[in-house]
Amino acid sequence: MNTNNKVLLIVALMFIGLATATIINVAINFREYAYSNAIEKSKMTAEIVRDGLTAHMVNGIMDKREFFLRNIANSKDVEDLWIVRSDSVIDQYGNGFKNEIIRDEIDKSVLKEGKSVRKITEDAERAILRVSIPYVATAYGTPNCLQCHAVQEGDVLGAISMEFNISGIRHAGTMTIAKIFGINLLFLLIAIFITNHYIKPYMHLFHNLQQGIKKAHLGDFTYRFTTQLKGEGKEVAEEMNGLFEKMQDAFGSIKDQLRTFVARTNISCSDPLHEARSIINELSDIYKFKKTIELEHDKYAIYERITYLLKNKFELTHFALYEVNHALKERKLIYITQKKSFCANKADNAALECRAYRTATDIISTDFPQLCSSCTQNGKLEYACLPFTINNDFSLILSISSTSKEKLGDISNKIISIKNFLEAAKPVIESKILMDILRESSLRDGLTGIFNRRFLEEYIEQEQAEIQREGIAYDIMMIDIDLFKQTNDNYGHDAGDIVIKTLSEILKSSIRDSDMAVRYGGEEFLIMLRHAQHEATMRIASKIQADFREKKFYFNNETFTKTLSIGIARLPHDNDSIWKVIKFADVALYEAKNTGRDKIVEFTPELCEG
Ligand code: GH3
Ligand code: MG
Ligand code: MG
Repeated sequence: MNTNNKVLLIVALMFIGLATATIINVAINFREYAYSNAIEKSKMTAEIVRDGLTAHMVNGIMDKREFFLRNIANSKDVEDLWIVRSDSVIDQYGNGFKNEIIRDEIDKSVLKEGKSVRKITEDAERAILRVSIPYVATAYGTPNCLQCHAVQEGDVLGAISMEFNISGIRHAGTMTIAKIFGINLLFLLIAIFITNHYIKPYMHLFHNLQQGIKKAHLGDFTYRFTTQLKGEGKEVAEEMNGLFEKMQDAFGSIKDQLRTFVARTNISCSDPLHEARSIINELSDIYKFKKTIELEHDKYAIYERITYLLKNKFELTHFALYEVNHALKERKLIYITQKKSFCANKADNAALECRAYRTATDIISTDFPQLCSSCTQNGKLEYACLPFTINNDFSLILSISSTSKEKLGDISNKIISIKNFLEAAKPVIESKILMDILRESSLRDGLTGIFNRRFLEEYIEQEQAEIQREGIAYDIMMIDIDLFKQTNDNYGHDAGDIVIKTLSEILKSSIRDSDMAVRYGGEEFLIMLRHAQHEATMRIASKIQADFREKKFYFNNETFTKTLSIGIARLPHDNDSIWKVIKFADVALYEAKNTGRDKIVEFTPELCEG
């Protein structure tokens, strides 16, 4: 039942209640009035009859009493009137007239008990009040009853019974009740009409407000309120419309603006408030994530953060994160949750085999089965491979796998959000890569691409303790081009550069990965051979020397060759300090120079004595 009908029902019930109460009250009052009126009348009549009969008796005309009694009985509203004699009066004066005999139990009871009896007999047509009153003998009245009657004080002499027709009053009461009912009904109809007429528009507005607020609760502020009301009702509707318009505008634009910060799924929530809140929450998470990874030392620490996020925030259980080097077309596994990648290893050396990398688009197996030939080789897993280009040199590939389409479907819903986080990480990873490059370049020599002296200093500072603790052996060679100044002087600086570069290439190709070549000075190089055997060191030194000597340089229409001098010292054989051993290698080199150049000289303590 709507509110309007409820109000009408309440009004109707109130009127019906009021009318019923009034009618019951009026009915009771009418009945009481009719009753007490008839009683009064009966008392008066009883007294008149008693006095009349006494007068008849005194005047000796008792036999004429019938006329007197009939006249009284004929008065208005008295239906019947009769008197009865008590046994004592019958004994003294006889039975009286024929109609002065006991008619019923009431007569008997009144004569016996000496108490009045009243009784109402009602049917649909008539209402009769019967009143029977006893005449009690007394010596104190006027006249003294005991003078004429042979009775005791208080004995019942007789009784008078009267029947009054109170139907007229009952009819009047019924009519009054009918009128009251009619008036009430009329008022009820008027009240319902007024209520309906005045309350209905308010109810309509109320209903509108209810609908609008329900929609607003779901984030839809498009509802507009209409009303026929004027004054306050109209103001409320207008103010609500203004408020809803403002909300619609504000939340709509907040949602649109926020969408420019983070991508959202197409199936977005229609509640702009809810969506704005979830976007802000995600923005806040992304911001915190970005701030955290900015403080990481290098890109690998960022990759660790990303894998933590994928496992803990996005609850991915099976995934692999790869880094692709664009120039080398190499894909390097950074992290994997399971032991074995579901993606074929061939894509590691030939990154173009990875479809996600090759096409730079998301590869989702549920969109098109067997989409990537590298992935489908390993069983019936469903997968989603997502590429993220970091910069011109590097990309990341996130490969998520699942055992069922349904599970992958759940994961796909997270992809947009995962991308938002990785997009935020991109510039940070890029800056770390640039910093790595910068740092790397600051540690390498620009001309030859091999490590510079600064790197050597940092390396020794970091590694010295471990080298000494572990007793790692290093053979150190100090190599210097003989009479290099002449080359510069005779053929120019560019020619000198080429000679230096040629030597660096020979050095790089002569040592293992665990060894180290450093450009120590202008045309002076240092080689550190890790875990070196003495013979091997001598062989390498000889080979370097021979290879370099055999190189023919051609400048200014002239061909020339160059030679090297090499000094060698050994850690920990000669000393357990690296810097000392380097110094000793330099001493040995000095000796090689002093003793004719194009030589390999091993350090001996005697060299220091000179
Ligand atoms: P020695 O046999 O005693 O070593 O004689 P040297 O002429 O080689 O003498 P030294 O080693 O002192 O000469 C180094 C020269 O190398 C001096 C400098 O002009 C030149 N030099 C240093 N760095 C470079 C460079 O990057 N390019 C060129 N072209 N020359 C360089
Ligand atoms: Mg030199
Ligand atoms: Mg030199």
